[in-house]
Amino acid sequence: MEDVRRVSVFGVTGSVGQSTADVIMHSRDKFEVVHVTANNNADALADAAIRLKAQNAVLACETNISILQDRLKGTGITAQCGEEALLEAASEKVDIVMAAIVGLAGLEPLLKSIENAKAVAIANKEPLVSAGALVMEKAKAHGTLILPVDSEHNAIFQVFDQSQRQTIKRILLTASGGPFRTWSKQQMKEATPAQAVAHPNWSMGQKISVDSATLMNKALEVIEAHFLYAMPADQIHVVVHPQSLIHSMVEYCDGSVLSQMGASDMRTPIACCLGWPQRLETSGARLNLTQALQFNFEPLDHDKFPSVGLAYDALAKGNASCIGFNAANEVAVQAFLNERIGFLEIIKYVESGLNWVDQNVTTKKTSYSLEEITTLDQTVREYINSVL
Ligand code: NAD
Ligand code: MG
Repeated sequence: MEDVRRVSVFGVTGSVGQSTADVIMHSRDKFEVVHVTANNNADALADAAIRLKAQNAVLACETNISILQDRLKGTGITAQCGEEALLEAASEKVDIVMAAIVGLAGLEPLLKSIENAKAVAIANKEPLVSAGALVMEKAKAHGTLILPVDSEHNAIFQVFDQSQRQTIKRILLTASGGPFRTWSKQQMKEATPAQAVAHPNWSMGQKISVDSATLMNKALEVIEAHFLYAMPADQIHVVVHPQSLIHSMVEYCDGSVLSQMGASDMRTPIACCLGWPQRLETSGARLNLTQALQFNFEPLDHDKFPSVGLAYDALAKGNASCIGFNAANEVAVQAFLNERIGFLEIIKYVESGLNWVDQNVTTKKTSYSLEEITTLDQTVREYINSVL
């Protein structure tokens, strides 16, 4: 990489955001950091802004702005807050944006980034579920390169030969099976938030950790893959691979199956995106294939984990169902983390969200506008909250 890349990191205080900061620090001379953002943790945002020598730090929530201003006094880094400031940061003409906000809250900054940046690395999967068609249309219209950060989709990115796409038979998404892979349904019924967020292979934010335990993460990833790779749902398959070392696979018509392997460390896919098409050094964990290692594969137990099947239903029904699917899950995951509902109830509420859309949204379109998406998302959230 010859030129210095101007990069902004949205959600810098999160799990992906911090790994992104590590990758940038490891190649310090290759990046100039413009904006860093967070929701409301002013101290963590100030730490990241100072560490990365960013130009500007933005808190989405206005409450802690005085803490941020105090912490950044004398550093030359400016401090801003509020939704407007967040969208203004996303409107900067940078080389690359890391979209690592969690939830559909990241949709508007993501769309603005796609309009303005040369490339956008997308970790934030929920906008691809609720607004996949809109996101990809926008990227096409603006000629913006979309780089998938999610480890499975990044693996596919590395082995999916776009020039040979008609010879691609299917995508195989690998799933670790999460912390409850070997638990009975009865055991899962009693699962606590602490048990659900303790992932066997990956260290991640709370929301995606719960999603990994319900396999909703894989369900969201099926929809994510559909939009990122324009692959029909029947050519996207899920296979359980408990070690999380093969990050996904692409099968070609001659029988060749290509995969990307690596340790379970997000710094690898993040570096792949930030350096693309060149390779960056990382300090991430390494896969040592000279040691004895096991790679196991097993079919997904759809009875124990109905979420993946529901994702295929939602995809078949169209955009509105995908919006309902994601919105109901976001509300239910939060309710589970707040100990208002049990673990198995999460999927019950996701089903309720899908049913609500079936009964209440009469015009099914393949692609909705931003306003339609946010309105329907909000309505489904209100409905789920009302029945919790
Ligand atoms: P996290 O909870 O650790 O971090 C989320 C970040 O978003 C934080 O910086 C937070 O301040 C910010 N944020 C939260 N709500 C916000 C709001 N309303 N407005 C603005 N900013 C807000 O989450 P994470 O685990 O880093 O995941 C981020 C995204 O990446 C998720 O969509 C997740 O599914 C996806 N992802 C994560 C991993 C992983 O290893 N953690 C892997 C693949 C994909
Ligand atoms: Mg993933």
